[in-house]
Amino acid sequence: MYIQDQLAEIRAAIAAAERRAGRPAGSVQLLAVSKTFPVEDIMHAYRDGQRDFGENRLQEAMGKMPEMPADCTWHLIGPLQRNKVRKALEQGFALIEAVDSLRLAESISRIAGELGTTGRILLEVNVDAEESKHGFTPQGLLDDWPALTALPHLDIRGLMCIPAPTEDPEGARPAFAALRGLAEKLRAIGPLPLPELSMGMSHDFPVAVEEGATIVRVGSAIFGRRTYPAR
Ligand SMILES: *Cc1c(COP(=O)(O)O)cnc(C)c1O
Repeated sequence: MYIQDQLAEIRAAIAAAERRAGRPAGSVQLLAVSKTFPVEDIMHAYRDGQRDFGENRLQEAMGKMPEMPADCTWHLIGPLQRNKVRKALEQGFALIEAVDSLRLAESISRIAGELGTTGRILLEVNVDAEESKHGFTPQGLLDDWPALTALPHLDIRGLMCIPAPTEDPEGARPAFAALRGLAEKLRAIGPLPLPELSMGMSHDFPVAVEEGATIVRVGSAIFGRRTYPAR
């Protein structure tokens, strides 16, 4: 079975990268990015033990999540509009990964408060400062840090990035290292432990693991080619 073979290869590649980097086995979470793929495909991965899945569109995720067994966990990895925050929180994602502005973080905190819950989020950083992309610039994040950490109904778990695509996976290494460096800086400022770094996709996840990723988001290398684009 194609998906199960691919999963086995990816798990082995993650384990090898953990060893190369001197990191403990099992320190990286494999998020299977199932966007655009039907529940039938996702079930193949599930039967092979995969439990953590990523979707980038809220509407699509809302259609699939109830169809999958309840012990799956889901991350929303795509951009979230402020008018959909309530729906996203009610949907019960384990993590909302791509929080890209203070305004969005404020809105998640406020609505989480109303719902009597806590928004578990990552902050998306535009590490290579591409103008067309979402995310905090590194300096912008440092500037907004006091306001972000003061929000009462947020659990800011760490940082994520989607660097500009490069032909050679090594091309993403500086961006991954920059995200790790920024997390270290923020940890030093306090008060949050920021345990998670979500970085690395099908093309470059081993490099990301070497640079400290705790979550890798892998889609096409598991499920095959998508017929419509990611964002
Ligand atoms: C689609 C997507 C991925 C997975 O991309 P692949 O190259 O298919 O592994 C990872 N992260 C985000 C935010 C995505 O939208």
